[in-house]
Amino acid sequence: MTTESTAGLTTTAPSSGPAATPDRAHRAAKRYIYAWGGGAAEGDGTMKDLLGGKGAGLAEMTRAGLPTPPGFTITTEACNDYFAAGEQLPAGLWDDVLEAMGEIEQLTGKGLGNPKNPLLVSVRSGAKFSMPGMMDTVLNLGLNAATLHGLIALTNNKRFGWDAYRRFIQMFGRIVMDVKAERFEERLDAAKERHGPDAKDTDLTVEDLTVLVDEFKAIVQAVTGRDFPDDPYEQLDLAIKAVFASWFGQRARDYRKYNKIPDDLGTAVNVVTMVFGNMGDDSGTGVAFTRDPNTGEKTLYGEYLTNAQGEDVVAGIRTPAKISHLADDMPEAYAEFQRIATQLERHYRNVQDLEFTIERGRLYMLQTRDAKRTAAAAVKIAVDMVAEGTISEREAVARIEPAQVDQLLRDQFDPNARQDAQRVAKGLNASPGAAVGRAVFSADDAVAWVGRGEKVVLVRIETSPDDFHGMAVAQGILTARGGATSHAAVVARQIGKPCVAGCAELVVDYGSKSATSSESGLGFKEGDWISVDGSTGEVFLDQLPTVSARFEDQAELQTILGWADKIRRMGVWTNADKPEEAAQARSYGAEGIGLCRTEHMFREGERLEIVRGAILVANVATRAKARAAAGEELDPEDQAAIETFDAAMAKLEVLQQGDFEGIFKAMDGLPVVIRLIDPPLHEFLPNLEDQLVKVTREDALAEAAGGRKRDGKHGKKGAKHGKKARGASEADRELLRTIKSMHEQNPMLGLRGVRLGLMIPDFVKVQTRAILNAEIAVAKAGGHPIAKIMIPLVGHVNELSATKAILEAEAKTVEAAALESAPGIKVEYKFGTMIEVPRGALTAHEIARDASFFSFGTNDLTQMTFGFSRDDAEGGFLLKYVEDKILPFNPFQTLDDAVAGLMQIAVRNGRATRPDLEVGICGEHGGDPESIAKCERIGLDYVSCSPFRVPVARLAAAQAVLAGAAGRDR
Ligand code: PEP
Ligand code: MG
Repeated sequence: MTTESTAGLTTTAPSSGPAATPDRAHRAAKRYIYAWGGGAAEGDGTMKDLLGGKGAGLAEMTRAGLPTPPGFTITTEACNDYFAAGEQLPAGLWDDVLEAMGEIEQLTGKGLGNPKNPLLVSVRSGAKFSMPGMMDTVLNLGLNAATLHGLIALTNNKRFGWDAYRRFIQMFGRIVMDVKAERFEERLDAAKERHGPDAKDTDLTVEDLTVLVDEFKAIVQAVTGRDFPDDPYEQLDLAIKAVFASWFGQRARDYRKYNKIPDDLGTAVNVVTMVFGNMGDDSGTGVAFTRDPNTGEKTLYGEYLTNAQGEDVVAGIRTPAKISHLADDMPEAYAEFQRIATQLERHYRNVQDLEFTIERGRLYMLQTRDAKRTAAAAVKIAVDMVAEGTISEREAVARIEPAQVDQLLRDQFDPNARQDAQRVAKGLNASPGAAVGRAVFSADDAVAWVGRGEKVVLVRIETSPDDFHGMAVAQGILTARGGATSHAAVVARQIGKPCVAGCAELVVDYGSKSATSSESGLGFKEGDWISVDGSTGEVFLDQLPTVSARFEDQAELQTILGWADKIRRMGVWTNADKPEEAAQARSYGAEGIGLCRTEHMFREGERLEIVRGAILVANVATRAKARAAAGEELDPEDQAAIETFDAAMAKLEVLQQGDFEGIFKAMDGLPVVIRLIDPPLHEFLPNLEDQLVKVTREDALAEAAGGRKRDGKHGKKGAKHGKKARGASEADRELLRTIKSMHEQNPMLGLRGVRLGLMIPDFVKVQTRAILNAEIAVAKAGGHPIAKIMIPLVGHVNELSATKAILEAEAKTVEAAALESAPGIKVEYKFGTMIEVPRGALTAHEIARDASFFSFGTNDLTQMTFGFSRDDAEGGFLLKYVEDKILPFNPFQTLDDAVAGLMQIAVRNGRATRPDLEVGICGEHGGDPESIAKCERIGLDYVSCSPFRVPVARLAAAQAVLAGAAGRDR
């Protein structure tokens, strides 16, 4: 037993060493039984592995001198050995059970099966982790015709006795003898109905109950072919085995799978003396929390029923009263309960979830465990407990779940409303939060509807960069295809919009502007209200009410994050492309920009046209420039291409410089990593199929009207009346030719990233100028810009060296110009690279020669390590892989260990070459708590994530440090 578990205890038992209960012979090979009672316990609160949460709690409460009914725990090890032996109790265990029963009999002065003074027990499951309602419990065990009469005589309460017997047969029949619950309930309902339509259990008379007991026994006999067991020891043997068996019941298996609880933990069995809350109006039973688990308020919160057994509270048959009313009904018991609640909370240093029973005015504690709580309560309780001196700041930080921080920052659907809502479909929870709006099916429609003052949810099969304007104005985004790193998901997270992606069951029809689920059969069309829950992936019909939250208003959350900042080692930066995003992230605590994807700026408004203009002539112009540099004379067409290209790039340079100035200002004094252009150029051009259809259609129309022939020449008729139906324009044809020429089979592995800058060096030059001139302009105005230029997708050091040469030459020109235009301003920048190609990671020692920093692009690194296309995998097989446990989780959401292994190699080898190499991560994993823990272990300097994940990352980075410290302490 550790000192911590006894700290603050008012114990009546020795705090360590053997308990005061007489030592038993232990006939079994192992010690399978731990008893408690009479103020002493053999186990303690630290033994959850062996005793389960309930057994450990009862032992600890007993040691603390609290009133518990005597009992014993059969260990989880016994459960595992039972299954290992082919569902046989381990040798000697039964003898040990009998002996422990004897001790309870001694302590209570009652006897199992003794008709004069019968002992009744409950047989309860209790695993290490609480699995509420997932396993089985049998109450009132020990009753038979003879002990029933003893019970009645002792309590002088016939109805109580018969009701207990009825309940026992019903419960034992269902749980131990596998009789379907409905068989009993039908008879029970029929009996109640005889007292009127709204009759309750408590309306049943002794006569009703005696009839029911006979009927229940007959049901058991009919279903199982055997009599209901009367022998209390046989009852006990069967009940213990049934509780073991419930560990592998379907409910329990499903719960464990969902909550990632291993199957081999086993359940303990607790045999506990029955105390009765249904012995009259001086008895009762209830559950309570030491603080309000919804708000965190420091007040006893819970409910109880007088004259009832625990199952009545849970079953909702009668409406329980608020726990505060107990002060009026049974003032002494209430005062004692309050005192105990305070004591337990202080002892466990956490909010407790308590179960109690009052038998004829005497209070018994049946269970205590750490209470589950809402996100708001978790934060308030942690801050309050630090203020009260109960826990340390570090413990407070450790206690908040990262998902709770996320929850607090997102609008949520009202939990009551969502219960009654009509669910259309479920997809991937790609970006959390609640969005309500009218369904629209294109980005242009989104803008048009919003322009009319409507709220919309943008529904697409999948999104592309062309949809950004629609995403920006929508409340939320819903896509039928694509996963956690799809365009929709990445952009939604970055701009803080809720998004459900990869909702494969949704059949989206752009033609009719409608969507229908192939599973639920429900659907909606344009203009219908829908509600999208990006936290769960659910899509509902109609407008669900939401509950909103703002970071600025959450003082307690900010306090916790302030403590987290003191603990964490890694920096938390953000991925932001615009000044507004940067400012938002900064208000959330971001300490820099780890990734500014410059190409996102290319798509806004007039820019796309300029970019397209440049792309159309980029190849011709670049080749022509190379020939000119080699001294060749250029023909006029080449000259024209160069002029068009340079003019477009010049416009772009001005615009980009403005963007960078905005970002430098928003992040004044903090580092800003700007990545040069990355995606394949065709992403800025119209879709090949669309353009092909456009040209073909216009030509076909013209031909039908007698205009242009299929070969593109004008027919006679067209020549005459050619004004109306001329066929596709030359510009559209040129565009089609360019798109075709740039078409790649695997664009993600084609001309993109560093390769693009090497093939068309003007991209590197123009962007370098825009960045450095922005830096100069901001510095001139008194700002403190810190520029870092990053090259994507490097696989070979020579790619980086060649790019660096182009970039440095350009930087020198800018510096030279600045000497005159901005004397005194130093043009400084750091040059680094992304590591997102496995070869890049494996040759980090070479790459680090040219790079002063690395940033892991784990989206691409995951794609290339697995060989899974990030655009296709999640919509295709990947989620099924996870479901079928082929993969333990989605590696695009949480860092895979092999990918992390590559990172580790890169960090180690990179730092071997350059000890001060700065290393971060900017893939989507940078905002995922589990991945952040791995980054801590790898030794990264910072994580970078979308603005809305910055607070979560601050907490997770601190927890990663705490987990590391705990690991070392162990
Ligand atoms: C990455 O690959 O992880 C990354 C950040 O770059 P992108 O997602 O833009 O390819
Ligand atoms: Mg990438």
